[in-house]
Amino acid sequence: MRFDFKVSSKTFIILLGAYFAFMMNLSFWRFFFKNIEEHSLMNYVFLTTIIINVFLIYTLFFNLILWKKGWKVLSAFFLISAACANYFMYQFNIIIDKFMVRNVMETTYREASELVTGRYVFWVIITGVLPAVLVCFLKADFKPFKQELKSRLKFVIGALLFVGLSVGVFFERYKEFGQNNENVHRMFNLFNYTYSTYQYFHKLHGKVRPFRILDNTVAWEDFPNNDSNHTLIVVVVGETARAANYQLNGYPRETNPYLSARNDILYFNKTTSCGTDTSYSLPCIFSADARENYEQGAAKYEQNVVDMIQSAGYGVLWRENNEGCKGVCDRVPTELMVSLNDPEFCFGLYCHDEALLSGLEDKIKNMNARNNLLVLHLMGSHGPAYYKRYPKRFEKFTPACNTADIQYCTREEIVNTYDNTLVYTDFILSELIKILEKFPQKEIALLYVSDHGESLGESGMYFHGYPYNEAPAEQKEVPMLMWFNKTALKYDHLDFACMKRLAQKGGFSHDNIFHTLLGLTEVDSTLYNPKLDMFTPCRLKPLPAVLD
Ligand SMILES: [Zn+2]
Repeated sequence: MRFDFKVSSKTFIILLGAYFAFMMNLSFWRFFFKNIEEHSLMNYVFLTTIIINVFLIYTLFFNLILWKKGWKVLSAFFLISAACANYFMYQFNIIIDKFMVRNVMETTYREASELVTGRYVFWVIITGVLPAVLVCFLKADFKPFKQELKSRLKFVIGALLFVGLSVGVFFERYKEFGQNNENVHRMFNLFNYTYSTYQYFHKLHGKVRPFRILDNTVAWEDFPNNDSNHTLIVVVVGETARAANYQLNGYPRETNPYLSARNDILYFNKTTSCGTDTSYSLPCIFSADARENYEQGAAKYEQNVVDMIQSAGYGVLWRENNEGCKGVCDRVPTELMVSLNDPEFCFGLYCHDEALLSGLEDKIKNMNARNNLLVLHLMGSHGPAYYKRYPKRFEKFTPACNTADIQYCTREEIVNTYDNTLVYTDFILSELIKILEKFPQKEIALLYVSDHGESLGESGMYFHGYPYNEAPAEQKEVPMLMWFNKTALKYDHLDFACMKRLAQKGGFSHDNIFHTLLGLTEVDSTLYNPKLDMFTPCRLKPLPAVLD
């Protein structure tokens, strides 16, 4: 038998169109077949037009883009890149939009190396690389340009007619389908990442914006006739911790064994995040803008609350153990845990979060400024390699999923591993409080909040980053807690019982953090909105700036 690797350009385009429409869109078809609700003949005809139209649209696209010059290279590139996207969309129910592309573009080697697993490589080779190699050996018969154009035009017109007619006939159903499934267009492989990548670069190479100072009159003002206490505000930004698995939030497992043993923790119920991924949420936490006005990427060009507190005279230190601060810490002193490379907690490109506490007591002792803000950015519960986030001695819930290829693990193992990361974070916070307790003469407040939540297999969804409006609660409800020492409560004139009631009632969001931090640091700014400061109702004395 002899294989003749020769086809007409038309056949090739149709085959490629079919391969992309069906094989490369597993995630869309799973969604499609799962959501058939109406079992009527009319609906089946409508659904059949969707199937045909998806195929026609890919075929149309390849008809426009693949010509005698460069068809092999382009096809091979599409096949391999789409195979990569198909894997993540299908395995983890991920949707590819500009935020996801931003995550991919801004990922670090360390993060990426955890996603590239054996199974992933195998998938890409079988569904992307092998077909691409096949294409390289293929001979496609392209007619002379005019003839080729003519025959393509016939196809294009025919296909457009079918698409137009079918959408026209079922217009109401198509409209309803689109409205009910707002993100469905982001599921179409190849188109989704091509368009999102374009959006990403378009924005990146947009005109360089001048840096915006939001308030150049910020100043620190102490309560009149106050002591000479030094203030230390500590903000710990967690990573991927979800409220649903927090013992302090009522989760039946002991995921907060350390903090729940204390009676001085304020846990804020029903706290919601600004976004569903780090690059969106992290700058938003510190931004003056509320969620609805917040613009992603503005952090590099705009003052945030950390900058403002620094401008008011605070000493600021940002200690980073995650994948970077996304522009928030660009203008303040920063320490990278991987660069410090503490041999006790770091190995190669990675450090356990305990590294953030290493030497911290001495650092606090030697702080030069009278008032200080310290930010710790945790690695927390960052997936998929949850098991790498904690030392072996924190493997409290077993069996754990000790691989980044979490599809090999049962859901129970995944949840066990994830819960272990929460226990470790709980330990970090508890140890941090122990360090802070060594400075009773300072006014100290600690705020911990996670940047976004995580899906752990609910409705087949994993990880995070789902478009906000449709994201499940697990990705948006985050733990937030605070601790104050007695000196802070006394000299900041805060009523702890009132704060406890407020925290229990909860319902705060990342929007409150900007104003609450200005309140706690007693930094006077025109941007401060007391209505968004969580503790306004619990101040026994109004803030000094309000007094004058
Ligand atoms: Zn994150």
